[in-house]
This record gives sequence, structure tokens and C-alpha cells, in this order.
Amino acid sequence: MLFRELAEICEKLTSTTKRSEMVRLVADFLTRLEPGEVETASCMLLGRPFPNTSRWRLDVSWSTLAEVILRITGASQREMAPAFDSTGDIGAATAVLFSAARIKRQQLFSIKPLSLLEVQEILRKVARLRGPGARRRKERLIEGLLNRCEPLEAKYLVKIVTGEMRTGFQEGLMELAVARAYGVSLKSVRRAAMFAGDIAIVAGIAARSGESGLEEIGPSPMRPISPMLAQVCNEIEEAIEVHGGQTNFEYKLDGARVQIHKKGSEIRIYSRRLSDVTESLPEIVNLILQELHAEEAIVEGEVIAVGKDGRPLPFQSLLQRFKREREVERMAQEVPVRLQLFDLLFLDGCSLVDRPYEERRERLRTIASNIELTEQLATSRADLGKDFLERAIRAGHEGLMAKKPGSPYVPGARGKLWLKIKPTLEPLDLVIVGAEFGYGRRHRWLSDYYLAAVDENTGSFEIVGKTFKGLTDEEIKEMTQELQKLVVKTEGRRVWVLPRIVVEVIYNEIQRSPKYPSGMALRFARITRLRPDKSPAEADTLRRVKEIFERQVKRI
Ligand code: AMP
Repeated sequence: MLFRELAEICEKLTSTTKRSEMVRLVADFLTRLEPGEVETASCMLLGRPFPNTSRWRLDVSWSTLAEVILRITGASQREMAPAFDSTGDIGAATAVLFSAARIKRQQLFSIKPLSLLEVQEILRKVARLRGPGARRRKERLIEGLLNRCEPLEAKYLVKIVTGEMRTGFQEGLMELAVARAYGVSLKSVRRAAMFAGDIAIVAGIAARSGESGLEEIGPSPMRPISPMLAQVCNEIEEAIEVHGGQTNFEYKLDGARVQIHKKGSEIRIYSRRLSDVTESLPEIVNLILQELHAEEAIVEGEVIAVGKDGRPLPFQSLLQRFKREREVERMAQEVPVRLQLFDLLFLDGCSLVDRPYEERRERLRTIASNIELTEQLATSRADLGKDFLERAIRAGHEGLMAKKPGSPYVPGARGKLWLKIKPTLEPLDLVIVGAEFGYGRRHRWLSDYYLAAVDENTGSFEIVGKTFKGLTDEEIKEMTQELQKLVVKTEGRRVWVLPRIVVEVIYNEIQRSPKYPSGMALRFARITRLRPDKSPAEADTLRRVKEIFERQVKRI
């Protein structure tokens, strides 16, 4: 299949907002592919070059890409801005510049057209490049690719490289398209996607081996599983009631979720977003090697940073452990971490995800007798639950989790089987989409941030507030550097950036406001921490902001 045909489908997707039409278009497209092309095409339709779980990262910044585009098209920085203004999208802006340069580039179109697999292969080479001189060589490979692109191909190649597909076609629709294309049930597609970690992988399996292939997918060591998540719950009483009169409370630790896979002496640690973070946590690898008594296992827990007194440190301190790959050993001494386990999903050849909570926890205790488990209390009494919550907060933790008695582990689900109870006003996880340079001492730094929620219908980002509060000077400097790599448009002292950075924000209230198209604005917003463990798509939705807004109104 040619890459051009994929670009054409993506273009068609943008011309409809009807979900059923999108599913039909993609399902038809999938059936025209060779089985060996399906995984690749599915990744690209969702705006990524490789499956989520892959260890490859392109590491190509927007500024590098912009330089290449300007070089190929002969356009100037000044021409780029109006192209972006008229389209509001960097992929589309690229197509405008490529079309304008068409006459000059005409002779190039006689070159052999790009195939889907060829594009992925070259991007894989880009991802593999590391170390000195890598940036240059990456740039050359990307330039080689873009040089062979017609405007429409360039548009979607740029979108795939930057991860900004914005066709409105997302994972949920892909599940429907896969079921339709290969005549398999939606239920097994969804189940398989949670175990495989990416719907694109499942599409490939469905194409090759249909329903029976999907049914065979289950937990397997070294293949990360989408983590089970929790719904927000406001009160201890409510948690007990929702769980049928009794529940299992656990301390909710303010750290990083880890899913640890063991196979003989090989250990891999995956983050909540399923990226491989093994290299950053050597002492956890050692602990598991010595103290997890199983040949093969998948366990889950939370890693927290601890101070000299053994008390938990804020999440922010822990982040340093994941940032500096080259200084792992020094960081391990400076920021000691502690692991607490809370679940067991696989043990010596057997999946445990369908076994009840209590059994999983009991077996976890048996194989990890020298590793801490999260504090737990099984109770039907609200007063005991409240005492337990207070103890958790006093010990420096975030709140409680409540896990339903007898419940299975449902990968990827954010349902009522697990509830989270945090005592403070619900913070929001929002995405920075723009920033302004500050004044006085901060005049060189991007220190005032536009915060956006995800519009759950379109996947676009809608501004709901702005803040210059919460970050330290050091953090603002780092944030400035990060944001400068993401700039797509400059307006005086304001920049608009690719929506990449997720931050946790607290605020006093949500007001109705004409300032932003969302119609709402957070009052006295303040950033409480960075959330690099969350992808922009996982940020809070506009619907959730509205819900909090409406709840507030009712209270008045
Ligand atoms: P949130 O990130 O607010 O959606 O809360 C869910 C997260 O809480 C999980 O992804 C875990 O990282 C974390 N967590 C902390 N303690 C526990 C626990 N005892 N059980 C499950 N998750 C926990």
C-alpha cells in the first residue's frame, strides 16, 4: 500500500464528523491492506509511527522539523506564520508551503512513491539514532523522506511525526473499525487492546488470525498491560455504599505507578503510560530480583521518593529520577525511592486478572514477603475508614483507594471497582497550549501559561484558564526551554505551542467567562506539579470542567 493512499484516507476523515462514516472509511481501508501492513497503517491512522508500547522514540523536535520544511520548500519563517494562521494546524500549514513550492519541486515527483512500510522503516531508523551527531542524521533522514512527499503526504507525515493527527479518528473508533473489517467481536477487540497495550497491534492480529487470535491474547511477561484506573469518589460513606456495604481501603500513594515484569532473571519496569523506565530504577530491579519469589510474574505498585526521615517527598522530587538517564547512579543516591506493591496480575504461567482482589493480594503477599505492600483496611464501617484516611494523610500520602471486594483486575478500565478518595478540592490535569513572557525578573522566561482541557468530542484543546503561579524560578527556566521547542506561532510576547505538557492545577472556583471560547475560566489557578506521566489526551476533559462548574453552581 502506498503512503499516499493512507494520506488520502486521513484527508477524507477530516471531511466528516460522523463517527459511523469514519468507521466505515477506515474499515474499508483496512480490508484493502496486506495483513503485514495493518499494524503500521493503524498506528499511522492514529497519529503515531509505532505502537505505544514500542521502545522507539523519534525524538525529532518541532523546530528541527520546521527547519527541514523551510529548506525543502524554500519558504521563509515569515511565510510559515500565515500558513499556520490560515489553517491552525502544522500539518496543514506544511501542505500549504509544499503546494506553493510545487512548481519548483515538480521534477521530484517522478521519484518512486513511498510505501507505508517504507515510511515506517525510515522512521524506525530515525528513532534508533542515538548519541553524538544523532540530531543531524535524524534531520537528514527526515529531509530525505519529506523530499519524496507530495503536499498531501507531507501534511500527514508531519502529523505522524509530531503526533498531531487531529482527524477526529481515535482509539475507540479504531476498535469499531477493526471489528467491522475482520468480522470479530467488539468485546474481544477491546479486551485484547488492553492486554496488548495498543489497538494497532490488535488490528494486526485480527487481520492475521481473526477472533481466535484475539482470544489468545492475555497477560504475558514483558508485554505491558494498560493499567486499571479509579473513578473519583468524594466520601468514605459513598465508597462503602457503592461497593455493596464493605470495601478494601488502601493508602493512595503520591508517586509513580509501576508495572513490573519478571521472566527468570530479566526484569522490566513500565510506567503508567507503558513506557519502559527500567533504566531509571536500578535499585527496584535489584529488589525484585532478590525478593520476588517467582519465576515469572507481573506485579503492580507505586514508587515514591522518600526523604531522610523516610517520609514521602512530593511527586516533583520523584520526577528527577525519570529525567536524567545519564546520571542514574547519582540520582539514585540523591533521591532514594521506595516501592510498595498492590497487585499481582500474572504468576508462573497463569493469568490472575480474573481472580478476586483478595486472592491476588494474598498471593502477592506470599511471593513478596520482604517487599512492602500498600497499607490496607477491609471494613464496612465509615468511622474506621475516616480514621484510616486521616492516618494516610498524616503519614504524607495523598488519600485512599477503595477496591471492591471480590473484584477482578480490569485492564484499562476506569470504573467503579476502584475508587479514589482525595480530601482536597479536585485538581485538574490540564495541557499548556500557550505562554507569555513575564515581566521584571521574569521578562526572559515564559512564565504565564494558558491551560486547556480536552474537548472529548473533537480531541482538540480548549483554554479554560491562565496562571503564572506555582512553579519555582528553576522550573520556569526549564519550562521555557521545553516550550520553546514546541512553539508553532509567535504573537509579540505570546507564543502558542504544541499541546504536549500536562500540569496539575488547583483553583478557587470555576467562573462563567467570555474570555475563552470554552465559556469558562478558572479563578486563582495555580500549578501544583508537572504530570509527565500523563499524555495530553489523558488530560481532564471539557466535560469534567463543566461538571465541576455545575456542581459549584448547585451548591450556591
Ligand atoms: P490518578 O492518577 O489520580 O487517576 O489515580 C490513580 C493512580 O493512583 C494510579 O495510577 C496509581 O499510580 C496511584 N496509586 C497510589 N496508590 C495506589 C493504590 N494503593 N492502588 C492503586 N493505585 C494507587
